Amino acid sequence: MRAYDIIMKKRNGEKNSKDEIEYMINNYVSGDLEDYQMSAWLMSVYFNHMSDEERYNLTITMLNSGDKVSLDKINGKKIDKHSTGGVGDKTTLTLAPMVASLGLTVSKLSGRGLGHTGGTIDKLESIPGFKTSLSTEDFINIANKTGIAVAGQTANIAPADKKIYALRDLTATVDEISLIASSIMSKKLAIDSDGIILDVKAGSGAFMKEIDEAKKLAKSMVSIGKMNGKKIKAMVTNMNQPLGVKIGNALEVYEAIETAKGNGPKDYQELCVELACHMAEISGNMSYDEAKEKLLENIKTGVVKDKMKEWINAQYGDGKVVDDPELLNISKQTKEIKSNKDGFLTSYDTEKIGIASMMLGAGRATKEDEIDLSVGLEVHKKLGEEVKKGDTLVTIYYSTVSNVNESEKLINQSIIISDKKPNELIMKTIYDIID
Ligand code: URA
Repeated sequence: MRAYDIIMKKRNGEKNSKDEIEYMINNYVSGDLEDYQMSAWLMSVYFNHMSDEERYNLTITMLNSGDKVSLDKINGKKIDKHSTGGVGDKTTLTLAPMVASLGLTVSKLSGRGLGHTGGTIDKLESIPGFKTSLSTEDFINIANKTGIAVAGQTANIAPADKKIYALRDLTATVDEISLIASSIMSKKLAIDSDGIILDVKAGSGAFMKEIDEAKKLAKSMVSIGKMNGKKIKAMVTNMNQPLGVKIGNALEVYEAIETAKGNGPKDYQELCVELACHMAEISGNMSYDEAKEKLLENIKTGVVKDKMKEWINAQYGDGKVVDDPELLNISKQTKEIKSNKDGFLTSYDTEKIGIASMMLGAGRATKEDEIDLSVGLEVHKKLGEEVKKGDTLVTIYYSTVSNVNESEKLINQSIIISDKKPNELIMKTIYDIID
């Protein structure tokens, strides 16, 4: 077999066989295939795409390049959740105790934030004492005792994807659906969960800016999961505005706690409840309707809040933050951005909002950057809301005054207020469910 022939086939719009895909990926990982050959193949995939079978074979080859994580020793049904990433996306923090309150087990490996999106591990570390680096034994014990354990990923999962992703990033081949779907699923299928729910974000703060593109990505990932015998569903959800109202690490934990108590922003509350009910249904333990009735009751009676506290305590954090979120270290230095006109909030450039928060120190421009857990943003208006001149649009929470100006400039650029309400579709929390 020769790389040249495999690239030529893809370049000419033909399909690559399983053996050919394995040849490309395995030789690239071992260093026997040059960057320029892999780049040429990736660019051919970019223009000619892949069939379902090719996507599946690429996924499994990348998965097999690394470790597989067994959850055998953890009791109960384990439904994994993956979000393609967005601004203010703190879903795991509230979803985990919701799902655990329904009798499922959440044993999740999560990541740190990069660029305009945040990461669950950073957010959890803004809870005083919370440990995200756990031994395998501790992880298993905590999951079995409380129904929840969330830790940073230490296993060597899909190293082929890591190497190829770095090359895609340099060769303008990231945004192709076959490549994205295979990349995400190679990491998800390496964990032997009982099922998966995918939260595929669509809009100005997401990878996929258009709803139709996000639907295609969701369908592709669901198809790969099904070919692997997994129970899997995807929700295509709104990232045309920040999720909830708070962005930044401690700020997002604050909002997650309020939402566990039933006092969260409408969109964030709705997304968590819907994801939790679909996860319960995927588990086979109960129907969607049964899950919804039980979950709404669990929120009302404080079962979800108590579960959150139990989990935080079990991971060595200070569970008192659940009773009193003011204990979180949120910067007291604030600046308000006000509207200079009347109208309706018509659009957010959500990616710019995420970058504005990153500039304050809440996120990383590069993997090596240190972050400031106490800073971030609060948006006071959601899409479609009426705005009066002088209303506060955004509160900036900062620690370093020199970061404020540039962040403020970006926020002002990212908000559009006009005379007409935006189209209803853009305001929906959930755009579609792919089963
Ligand atoms: N996230 C991933 O893990 N892979 C991609 O290709 C894109 C987003």
